[in-house]
Amino acid sequence: MTEGPTLRSLIGEHWNLARTLRKLEIRFDPERCSGVWECYEVCPVDCWEPDYEGSVVIFHHGERCIACGACVLQCPEGAIELEVPGG
Ligand code: SF4
Ligand code: SF4
Repeated sequence: MTEGPTLRSLIGEHWNLARTLRKLEIRFDPERCSGVWECYEVCPVDCWEPDYEGSVVIFHHGERCIACGACVLQCPEGAIELEVPGG
Protein backbone atom coordinates (compact mmCIF):
# COMPACT_ATOMS: atom_id res chain seq x y z
CA MET A 1 0.00 0.00 0.00
CA THR A 2 1.38 3.42 -0.97
CA GLU A 3 1.36 6.13 1.63
CA GLY A 4 -0.50 9.33 0.87
CA PRO A 5 0.82 12.80 1.51
CA THR A 6 1.26 13.81 5.12
CA LEU A 7 0.21 17.13 6.59
CA ARG A 8 3.89 18.01 6.83
CA SER A 9 4.55 17.24 3.15
CA LEU A 10 1.44 19.19 2.07
CA ILE A 11 2.53 22.22 4.10
CA GLY A 12 5.97 21.94 2.52
CA GLU A 13 4.42 21.95 -0.96
CA HIS A 14 2.24 24.90 -0.04
CA TRP A 15 5.22 26.92 1.18
CA ASN A 16 7.18 26.16 -1.97
CA LEU A 17 4.24 27.29 -4.11
CA ALA A 18 3.76 30.42 -2.00
CA ARG A 19 7.45 31.30 -2.39
CA THR A 20 7.19 30.91 -6.17
CA LEU A 21 3.99 32.97 -6.39
CA ARG A 22 5.58 35.82 -4.42
CA LYS A 23 8.27 36.08 -7.09
CA LEU A 24 5.91 36.24 -10.07
CA GLU A 25 5.53 39.50 -11.93
CA ILE A 26 3.16 40.65 -14.65
CA ARG A 27 4.51 40.95 -18.17
CA PHE A 28 2.13 42.98 -20.32
CA ASP A 29 2.41 43.38 -24.09
CA PRO A 30 0.46 46.54 -25.03
CA GLU A 31 0.88 45.71 -28.73
CA ARG A 32 -1.51 42.77 -28.29
CA CYS A 33 -4.05 44.65 -26.17
CA SER A 34 -7.39 45.35 -27.85
CA GLY A 35 -8.81 47.33 -24.95
CA VAL A 36 -11.64 45.08 -23.81
CA TRP A 37 -10.67 45.72 -20.17
CA GLU A 38 -11.45 42.29 -18.84
CA CYS A 39 -8.29 42.58 -16.77
CA TYR A 40 -9.56 45.79 -15.24
CA GLU A 41 -12.87 44.08 -14.41
CA VAL A 42 -11.36 41.07 -12.67
CA CYS A 43 -8.28 42.37 -10.86
CA PRO A 44 -9.05 42.32 -7.12
CA VAL A 45 -6.38 44.90 -6.30
CA ASP A 46 -6.82 47.49 -9.09
CA CYS A 47 -3.61 46.97 -11.01
CA TRP A 48 -5.18 47.92 -14.36
CA GLU A 49 -6.50 51.24 -15.58
CA PRO A 50 -8.44 51.70 -18.83
CA ASP A 51 -7.03 54.23 -21.27
CA TYR A 52 -10.29 55.02 -23.05
CA GLU A 53 -8.69 57.32 -25.62
CA GLY A 54 -5.98 54.87 -26.58
CA SER A 55 -8.28 51.80 -26.36
CA VAL A 56 -5.64 50.00 -24.34
CA VAL A 57 -5.08 49.33 -20.70
CA ILE A 58 -2.34 50.61 -18.42
CA PHE A 59 -0.68 48.36 -15.88
CA HIS A 60 0.23 50.18 -12.71
CA HIS A 61 0.59 49.48 -9.00
CA GLY A 62 2.51 46.30 -9.80
CA GLU A 63 3.50 46.12 -6.13
CA ARG A 64 -0.13 45.33 -5.31
CA CYS A 65 -0.29 42.25 -7.57
CA ILE A 66 -0.97 39.05 -5.64
CA ALA A 67 -0.37 36.84 -8.70
CA CYS A 68 -3.91 35.49 -8.65
CA GLY A 69 -3.75 34.93 -12.43
CA ALA A 70 -7.27 36.23 -13.11
CA CYS A 71 -6.15 38.80 -15.68
CA VAL A 72 -3.99 36.23 -17.47
CA LEU A 73 -6.94 33.86 -17.78
CA GLN A 74 -9.41 36.55 -18.82
CA CYS A 75 -7.34 38.34 -21.46
CA PRO A 76 -8.63 37.18 -24.87
CA GLU A 77 -5.50 38.43 -26.63
CA GLY A 78 -2.83 36.68 -24.58
CA ALA A 79 -1.37 40.08 -23.75
CA ILE A 80 -0.65 39.27 -20.10
CA GLU A 81 1.67 36.71 -18.58
CA LEU A 82 2.87 35.98 -15.09
CA GLU A 83 6.51 35.05 -14.94
CA VAL A 84 9.49 34.84 -12.66
CA PRO A 85 11.69 37.86 -13.48
CA GLY A 86 14.73 36.77 -15.42
CA GLY A 87 13.31 33.23 -15.66
S1 SF4 B 1 -7.95 41.89 -21.01
FE1 SF4 B 1 -6.17 41.86 -22.41
S2 SF4 B 1 -6.92 42.84 -24.30
FE2 SF4 B 1 -8.36 43.36 -22.66
S3 SF4 B 1 -7.63 45.34 -21.87
FE3 SF4 B 1 -6.71 43.72 -20.58
S4 SF4 B 1 -4.71 43.33 -21.57
FE4 SF4 B 1 -5.95 44.46 -23.06
S1 SF4 C 1 -2.51 38.51 -11.42
FE1 SF4 C 1 -4.37 39.06 -10.24
S2 SF4 C 1 -3.68 40.64 -8.82
FE2 SF4 C 1 -2.10 40.49 -10.40
S3 SF4 C 1 -2.66 42.04 -11.93
FE3 SF4 C 1 -3.61 40.11 -12.57
S4 SF4 C 1 -5.69 40.11 -11.70
FE4 SF4 C 1 -4.47 41.69 -10.64
